[in-house]
Amino acid sequence: MAKILIIGAGFAGHTAALYLGSKIGRKHEVTVVSNRDVFSYLPSWVWVGVGHMKPEKTVFKLKPVYDRKNIRFVHAAVKEIHPDAGDQYVLADEVGSGRETRLDYDYLVIAPGPLLNFAGTPGLGPENGFTHSICSYPHAIKTRDAYLALCERMKKGEKVKIVIGTGHPMATCQGAAFEYIVNVHKDLVKKGLRDKADILWLSNEPALGDFGVNGVQIKRNGHMLRSEEFIKSVFNDHGIRYQIQTGVTKVEEGKIHWQNYEGEEGVTEFDFAMLIPQFKGQPFKYIGKDGSDIASKIVNPAGFVLVDGKYGLPYPELAQTPEAWPAKYQNPSYPNIYAAGIAFAPPGPISKPFTNKNNLAIAPAPPRTGMVSGTIGRVVAMNIIDAVNGREPSHHESMTEMVAACVASMGDSLWDGSAVTIVMRPVVPDRKKFHNEYGRDLFISHLEMGLSGAWMKFMLHHTFMWKFKARPGWTLIPE
Ligand SMILES: Cc1cc2nc3c(=O)[nH]c(=O)nc-3n(C[C@H](O)[C@H](O)[C@H](O)COP(=O)(O)OP(=O)(O)OC[C@H]3O[C@@H](n4cnc5c(N)ncnc54)[C@H](O)[C@@H]3O)c2cc1C
Repeated sequence: MAKILIIGAGFAGHTAALYLGSKIGRKHEVTVVSNRDVFSYLPSWVWVGVGHMKPEKTVFKLKPVYDRKNIRFVHAAVKEIHPDAGDQYVLADEVGSGRETRLDYDYLVIAPGPLLNFAGTPGLGPENGFTHSICSYPHAIKTRDAYLALCERMKKGEKVKIVIGTGHPMATCQGAAFEYIVNVHKDLVKKGLRDKADILWLSNEPALGDFGVNGVQIKRNGHMLRSEEFIKSVFNDHGIRYQIQTGVTKVEEGKIHWQNYEGEEGVTEFDFAMLIPQFKGQPFKYIGKDGSDIASKIVNPAGFVLVDGKYGLPYPELAQTPEAWPAKYQNPSYPNIYAAGIAFAPPGPISKPFTNKNNLAIAPAPPRTGMVSGTIGRVVAMNIIDAVNGREPSHHESMTEMVAACVASMGDSLWDGSAVTIVMRPVVPDRKKFHNEYGRDLFISHLEMGLSGAWMKFMLHHTFMWKFKARPGWTLIPE
């Protein structure tokens, strides 16, 4: 009997667990260890942050689902990984008791999502700083409370400054921040308070609508339409000001310090700011048999797990080398270790990076969205099933092959809400396969805005909650 251990129960780890539990959970031991005992549907935290969805609606308990799917659940926070042959185990602290627990494995999936590195920007974040975040469950609730308190001030006639975007020169997840800014705009319009707020989009993107994926390009009626023009017209229509090519370097009470591409330094004042922090890998210790630190064999300096990618290529070369992107998500030093979701180390940025004259790199890191994370979770599960059955892992899907569909909410009302629906193939441009300057399949890539998107976004919430609860037919719903 093989022991398969999965760290993390998010889009990646939970998807891997459901496939493994369903397919081989009766014969083999499938265990999930997670520091939270619920699955969280993060995309709906955008609505939690404006008070339009109860936070409880975005989560459900994992254990009852795992009991149905032959998966053991351990509620604990992982701290150490001991990967050397003969004695492979993970050490974790049980949540509640704090007791240390040892979890042995034959196959390990590392899928603990990002460390939200607020410390990377002095003064950033809701705990030790002055800004808000919608990147965790408690943060989304705190953001909602702060936002609603701000609305009360506006109701009394006060004019306020709202800043939303990225809080680190190398932050990712611009899509979530974009959704949040347009939902804030819509909510203020509904409340009759929009004229009381100056709203600014502040981001590290090289161009509007870049989203860390080099933008989205589509062909419509024979003309090229780029997300840059599209987002610009949305912001202009909504009266949202924007400042891009900007890296936030420090935050003080009511003041955001930044540098831009030109190397200029500036300060932007705010009453309320939601800024996405830099993402890093979880700070696990990787310990060899002799007790030595063997982290460099498993993770890059940022803590992301090295897999079957080609690392170290300069950007111009990487942009022309789609095969540099990993496809099996298997660690080269320890082939029984896989990484899924945000935890795997991409070989480099997707958008063109930039370093200003003060040597500050202002470059969006590549996003690994929910769909990408779920897809990788499935690929990893299938490869482990191959290995457990004595076959060479044969499943692969690189981000240069994956289709990504994203519905960005712009107001949740089913009557006058809206959403941008984006379909892109592939997520990472493949200029060898698609012979256009964007490296994308222009027949499949699609960008649309309208009320139907709001319905789709609403349905996605319920469809994915169904899938992640492993209700009947869950495998028919694509990642
Ligand atoms: C506000 C917001 C909106 C978003 N909207 C969209 C969207 O519309 N579409 C889209 O595709 N993507 C969206 N994303 C991105 C998407 O949510 C992420 O890409 C996805 O959650 C990444 O999956 P993951 O499994 O790698 O990490 P996560 O989902 O973060 O899961 C990580 C898991 O690991 C656990 N964990 C962490 N540390 C430990 C530890 N030490 N020990 C044990 N367990 C641990 C966590 O509790 C969690 O269960 C959004 C993200 C945010 C923040």
